[in-house]
Amino acid sequence: MPELPEVEVTRLSFADRITGARIASVNLGKALRWPLGCAPAQLVGQMVLGVRRRGKYLMLDLDRGLLLVHLGMSGSLSFAAELPAAGVHDHFELITSRGRLRLHDPRRFGAVVFAQGEESEVARKLLGRLGMEPLSEAFELPAFQRGLKARSASIKQVLLAGDVVVGVGNIYACEALFHAGIRPTVRASKLTRPRVAKLHAAVREVLARAVERGGSTLRDFSNANGDAGHFQLETMVYGRAGLPCKVCAGTVKSIRQGQRSSFFCHTCQRI
Ligand SMILES: [Zn+2]
Repeated sequence: MPELPEVEVTRLSFADRITGARIASVNLGKALRWPLGCAPAQLVGQMVLGVRRRGKYLMLDLDRGLLLVHLGMSGSLSFAAELPAAGVHDHFELITSRGRLRLHDPRRFGAVVFAQGEESEVARKLLGRLGMEPLSEAFELPAFQRGLKARSASIKQVLLAGDVVVGVGNIYACEALFHAGIRPTVRASKLTRPRVAKLHAAVREVLARAVERGGSTLRDFSNANGDAGHFQLETMVYGRAGLPCKVCAGTVKSIRQGQRSSFFCHTCQRI
């Protein structure tokens, strides 16, 4: 599933090229997770002023409103002057003066939603409850400490929940906990301040590195140019159950937490 790094990589792969483009027409396929929320004709003639990201939402700023794009479980965007004929899993397309932006989403958990502005009810509903943005200044250590102190669930599950810090998916949570030396099962509220400080730094570093590596392609992620990501090739613990730890040569373990697999090293993650 695309997580924050994959969404950021997607943004970087087409934001500059689409900025300044004028929308000529809109094609809708099958229903996505949420309806578009406006008549497609309302988008025609509008200019794309830029592309921002909040959590796992891409925000295309238009002259009059914005489009919120979520990739769901299996979505990916393509942006090019020409694209092959739309297939059965292509459910949204923006034809602009600079190319076609297309959402490919086999499982249809993704969405494209129009909002009048960031303060509109629909935007607030989607963006309002998101946690801190980990790659921004907003991700402050004291607030992270307070957020974790208040939670008795395991640190791994608190990271995944996204209400303290947003966008840290399974692979990145496992990796950040490894770098911070923290077991995924420890209660978030039990972590000491120095340990939370390590985790705060590790979350930033792991996500930034993942963006640098083009995200992770576990199944079929690719950016808007069709390029796959490579972060999955350099994980320390994720996907490495039964293999030797790259630091201590102990064996990487895998356990289930919630519905997800957690990978960790018994020796390197003692807290
Ligand atoms: Zn180890």
